[in-house]
Amino acid sequence: MFDVLIVGGGAAGYFTAITIAEKNPELKVAILERGKEVLTKVKVSGGGRCNVTHAEFDPNELVKYYPRGEKELKGPFHTFCSGDTIAFFEERGIALKIEEDGRMFPESNTSQTIIDCFVNEGERLGVKVLKNSSVVGIEPIEKSDKNPLGGYSVESIQKKYHAKKIVVATGSNPKIWKLLEKLGHKIVPPVPSLFTFNIKDERIEGIPGVSANVTVDVLAKKTGQKVTIDLKSKVASKTILESEGPLLITHWGMSGPAILKLSAWGARVLNEANYKFTIRVNWLPEYHQEAVLKLLIQVKDVEAKKTVLRTHAVDLPKRLWVKLVKASGIASDTKWADCTKIQLQNLARELTAGEYAVDGKSTFKEEFVTAGGVALKEVNFKTYESKLIPNLYFAGEVINVDAITGGFNFQNAWTGAFIAGTAIANKSE
Ligand SMILES: Cc1cc2nc3c(=O)[nH]c(=O)nc-3n(C[C@H](O)[C@H](O)[C@H](O)COP(=O)(O)OP(=O)(O)OC[C@H]3O[C@@H](n4cnc5c(N)ncnc54)[C@H](O)[C@@H]3O)c2cc1C
Repeated sequence: MFDVLIVGGGAAGYFTAITIAEKNPELKVAILERGKEVLTKVKVSGGGRCNVTHAEFDPNELVKYYPRGEKELKGPFHTFCSGDTIAFFEERGIALKIEEDGRMFPESNTSQTIIDCFVNEGERLGVKVLKNSSVVGIEPIEKSDKNPLGGYSVESIQKKYHAKKIVVATGSNPKIWKLLEKLGHKIVPPVPSLFTFNIKDERIEGIPGVSANVTVDVLAKKTGQKVTIDLKSKVASKTILESEGPLLITHWGMSGPAILKLSAWGARVLNEANYKFTIRVNWLPEYHQEAVLKLLIQVKDVEAKKTVLRTHAVDLPKRLWVKLVKASGIASDTKWADCTKIQLQNLARELTAGEYAVDGKSTFKEEFVTAGGVALKEVNFKTYESKLIPNLYFAGEVINVDAITGGFNFQNAWTGAFIAGTAIANKSE
């Protein structure tokens, strides 16, 4: 009989095991991992560098990066926040560095540093790691004379185990969600989050790698109105599906932070739209269409003899400017003086409100997550214990929490794992 069995040897599972073993060395703790290796996602995370957390140290600000979990994570982040993550690694000799955009990586620039840290800590603290042990059954055991402690029977493809407490840290595994459903939990249906948009459009064809700071919003198909999303968010600006930040043109369409944010906040509505929708891009977010038109009319006066295509009229990458000028019906050799009002209006619209049809999505290889999982209202966020089934705990992506890209998803794993681990270590029976 184990005191605690942790199902899943990923980020959340390992961090839970280490927390328990450190805080209460008397407990017999084991991890059951289905794969032949542990921490495989940590290995590939952040392009092999592992973006462990984000340099946002105020819990009230940090929660704003979580389309699902914003309200629920406030309390947990007051207990264990990004500063605690940094301290955890520093205490173990691992320095983290902050990049310009706030993402934090190990100074070594390799995720192996994080894996080595966890594996060594697990060994030092006596955590048993059972690999190739895919869990296929979890059942609570009724307390009886024969079995006065109750607990759980956990069946792996190898053998059956008994444990007093269980932590489910299986990430986005549908089979485990099915098992949890059988135990009475509600599972919010999973949909992908953090993806890029597939767009086939002459205006962005042949210029992959071009990027610009933009605002972009999703348009509802029939009405052309901005799509609203029901996130029950307290942040007013998040109730409309729009975002701002760098947009990157790719071989397949559009990516970059502005697009990834939309994919996360709109994970469910965009799924419902079968990933077919229209976006509107303002390539010059500091301007409205009318202001740009005024500016273009001034340029027409000042640069009358110059060719439109060759003028650096606005702050945009040249290759994109050329595309947008052509899309406005202005020929390669047209001089400003010969531009018609309609052409200038077209150009102002292309620069500030160009519409692009999205048809499908692609995986963002740096980081992708699943929205969905154990319903938030069924988890006690003071302990990460199930509100329905005593001594069953959760940590990580198995819960219906996910974040935009930037180290926030791992922070969710560390925070949940720390709180679940602490609660278990401190609970007498
Ligand atoms: C390519 C990629 C890059 C990413 N990069 C980043 C990043 O840089 N920063 C960031 O914050 N987030 C990143 N993420 C997201 C992050 O990896 C996850 O949010 C995080 O790993 C979730 O941790 P977890 O422990 O809940 O789940 P996981 O890390 O997925 O771990 C779950 C573990 O449970 C095991 N398991 C599943 N089912 C069973 C079963 N039935 N029996 C036993 N074991 C089982 C799995 O094999 C796995 O080892 C990335 C994701 C991907 C896919």
